Amino acid sequence: MTKRSNLIDGEWTDAESGDTFDTYDPASPDEVVGTYPESAAADAERAVEAAAAATEEWGSTPGPKRGRILSRASSILADRKGELAELLVREEGKTEREAGGEVQRAIDIFDYYGSKARDIGGKVKGASGADTVLRTKQEPVGVAALITPWNYPVAIPAWKIAPALAAGTTAVIKPATLAPGCTHAIAEALDEAGLPDGALNVVTGPGSEVGDTIASHDAVDAVSFTGSTGVGNAVYDTATADGKRVQLEMGGKNPTIVSDAADVGTAARIASWGAFGVTGQACTATSRAIVYEDVYDEFVDAIVEQADGIEPGDGLAGGDMGPQVTEDELEGTLDYVEIGRTEGATLETGGEALEREGHFVEPTVFSDVDPDSRLAQEEIFGPVLSVIQVSGYEEALEVANGVDYGLSAGIVTNDHHEANSFVEDIDAGVVKVNQQTTGVELHIPFGGMKASSSETYREQGEAGIDFYTISKTVYDS
Ligand code: NAP
Repeated sequence: MTKRSNLIDGEWTDAESGDTFDTYDPASPDEVVGTYPESAAADAERAVEAAAAATEEWGSTPGPKRGRILSRASSILADRKGELAELLVREEGKTEREAGGEVQRAIDIFDYYGSKARDIGGKVKGASGADTVLRTKQEPVGVAALITPWNYPVAIPAWKIAPALAAGTTAVIKPATLAPGCTHAIAEALDEAGLPDGALNVVTGPGSEVGDTIASHDAVDAVSFTGSTGVGNAVYDTATADGKRVQLEMGGKNPTIVSDAADVGTAARIASWGAFGVTGQACTATSRAIVYEDVYDEFVDAIVEQADGIEPGDGLAGGDMGPQVTEDELEGTLDYVEIGRTEGATLETGGEALEREGHFVEPTVFSDVDPDSRLAQEEIFGPVLSVIQVSGYEEALEVANGVDYGLSAGIVTNDHHEANSFVEDIDAGVVKVNQQTTGVELHIPFGGMKASSSETYREQGEAGIDFYTISKTVYDS
């Protein structure tokens, strides 16, 4: 079992109250994995004050020096990859392969922003007249509040912490209560890599108190939130009320269109990876397969075969698909199975919890799903795929765009013209051609449209840096 403290102003410290909470293994729910401070508003306020006090030192640290600290942290995380992946499996429930991939992503993110930090500061943009050089000057935004979800508990903290620190912005992070341990591991690596006191602060505790305190604190300049749409919208209202800049990444109801110009076996594999990978607990998970009528029956058979070939099980014992994170999340998925049945969809396979210890559920496929039904409209956040029949491209597009969300969307087709039209027509921030809706690269922008995102600021790549910096335009004569 791991016992971790808050990190405030370079000190590893308990909550002022001394209260703690535990995390549990989703595959063996009686087993405590970690113990963390149950912090309150006063702890969060101290963390923000420490971040504010550190802005001058960290903001004036030269970019190359900031970059070296991030690169060293990347190497330290690489040395601890196995141990960190095991913590991720035990605290959140991913399989070992998925956890290894996610930890590697965090290592790569620190490596990437470690080298990016050398380029931050501004760019020459030509001249105006003979004597005036035009340039931009990038400055740290100040203090950032970072609020993260449980479902990618190492990659998402990494993709907020690394660009903030690379930009010279200081930060307070409140990781998800269900799986905070990997954020502590990142903070330890940065601490050992030489990060000055107060540049990064970690406070655990309930979102409604700790998250709300950091998102609304006067000394905070920018808030980056990833989580559910409901909480994100509330954070947005609070934070923008006094002019903070806000980056929001929220829910999804991501479609994969299967054209009659697709190889159906390939389409089923792509939809299966997107729907059942990480147990469907991804914001970019495929939850709707929108299939042309000519290939519909063949696709339903193929996707059922894919789902039936997946063996749910404990990630450390070789299972293909891990458990859901909590009993509540499992119950939520089973509720949607019931909703699907009541709405008249056909349950093709799955739909039951496994009769074993842990929050395991079968990969589930519904066919004959009405595009306006709750099953097809609401984010489920579990391994449930709804298959919807359409006549062709125009109807597929209407169904794909006919939800509140707009995060990730894919098409499987060998018709290049159709693929290009889809890229133009779809309302989604991430568009995939012949790939699953999940999975993103770290060096290009990531974000959604409609209820999935604030749309104002993207994450990752250089877009990540833009959020944590202010740009001035300089006319230098
Ligand atoms: P959540 O319940 O919205 O929680 C996200 C974070 O917000 C947690 O740290 C939570 O703290 C905190 N929080 C809760 N109430 C708050 C408040 N009033 N003020 C400030 N912070 C508050 O989401 P989740 O269940 O952890 O994650 C699943 C959701 O995240 C899904 O909807 C998924 O689609 C979305 N997601 C989106 C992306 C993306 O990039 N678009 C990526 C991953 C996940 P506690 O943990 O203490 O409750």
